[in-house]
Amino acid sequence: MNDPRHIATSIVGAVDWQTEVSGFCRCPGESLHTHPTGKKDCRVSVDGAPTIYCFHASCAVAVATANLRLRRELNTSPWSLTLPGGRVLRNGDVLQSSGTVLPREVIQARAKAEGRDADEQLILETLKTLAERFKPELFESFRWPFAQIIADSPLLVSERDAEDQFRTWLKLWPAHCHVWIGDVYSSGKPEHRTNFRPVAEWYQIGPVMGNFTCGSSFKPGSFQRSNANCNGTRFMVIESDTLPKDEVGAIFAYLNRRLRFNLHAIIDTAGKSLHGWFDAPRTPRIEAQLKAVLTTFGCDPKLFTYSQPVRVPGAYRDGRLQRIIWLKD
Ligand SMILES: [Zn+2]
Repeated sequence: MNDPRHIATSIVGAVDWQTEVSGFCRCPGESLHTHPTGKKDCRVSVDGAPTIYCFHASCAVAVATANLRLRRELNTSPWSLTLPGGRVLRNGDVLQSSGTVLPREVIQARAKAEGRDADEQLILETLKTLAERFKPELFESFRWPFAQIIADSPLLVSERDAEDQFRTWLKLWPAHCHVWIGDVYSSGKPEHRTNFRPVAEWYQIGPVMGNFTCGSSFKPGSFQRSNANCNGTRFMVIESDTLPKDEVGAIFAYLNRRLRFNLHAIIDTAGKSLHGWFDAPRTPRIEAQLKAVLTTFGCDPKLFTYSQPVRVPGAYRDGRLQRIIWLKD
C-alpha cells in the first residue's frame, strides 16, 4: 500500500511532519515570494482534499500547480495509514484536530444532506481541519494589535467626534441605500419604518436613533430586519466574542492582505471587541468556505446572517463612543 507522505515528499521535498498527515514544507513558489519567507509559512496535508497551503500570495500559481499534482497523484492511488492506537485513515478521510478520523462515507452523507456536491463538502471539511492546523501560524504571522491598527489607519479617524464618526461611516454606503439604525428590538412593527431610511436622511438626523445597524441595506419601505428584506449592497462584518482586541486584527489582516477581501473600516464597539467591515463574498461557494475557516479561527458564525445587528459608529455605549479606528483611504 502506498504511503501518502512519500508521494507528498516527492512533490514538495522534505516535510517537517507536525502530525501523521500534515507538516511544514518548502513552498513550491518560494522564489516568487515578495516578503521574507518564514519556516512555517507553507504547509502540506495529505488527508481530506490533499492541500499545499502557503501564507504568501505571490506564489499562488506555483502552489496551485503543485496542488493539482498532489491531488491527482494521491487520488489515483488508494492508500491507508494506520495511526497510533490502531485507527485507520484512508484517502478521502479527514484527520480532525481532536484526533478523530472523519470517514469519507460520513462526508458523502453530509454532502447529500446539505444538497452539496461531494467534492465541495470534502473541501469544506478539509478547510476546517486545515484552519485548525495553521491557526497558530496565522496569529503569529498576521499579528495586528489594537494600537498598531490605529497607527496604521490610512485616514486619521479614531479621534473624530460622534457626529463626524457617524457621517464618516455613512459614506461607506452608496447614496441610494436604505439603512437600518436602531436598538436591537426596533424591528418588526410598522412603526419601525422610521428606523429604515436612505443614507441622505440619516446624514441629517445624526446618530440618535440607536446603537445598532446592519451590514446590509434593505428594500425601501421595510420595517423588519430580516434576510428576506436585505437588498443589494452588503458588507461582511467580522466579529468574535472570544478573540480580544489585540488578536482579532490578525484575522482582519489575513482576510485583507492574503485573501484580498476589501477592508473598508474597523470599528471599536466600545466593548470587548472590534468589527471589521469587508466586502461580502461574491458567491455562495466562497461564502461557505469562508464560514468554515472563520468560525474555526474563533469568529462569530452569525456574521453570515446579514440582518444581524452590529454596533454603529457615533453612538455612545455606557458613556463610551463606538468609533471607527481604521479607515480605508
Ligand atoms: Zn509561497
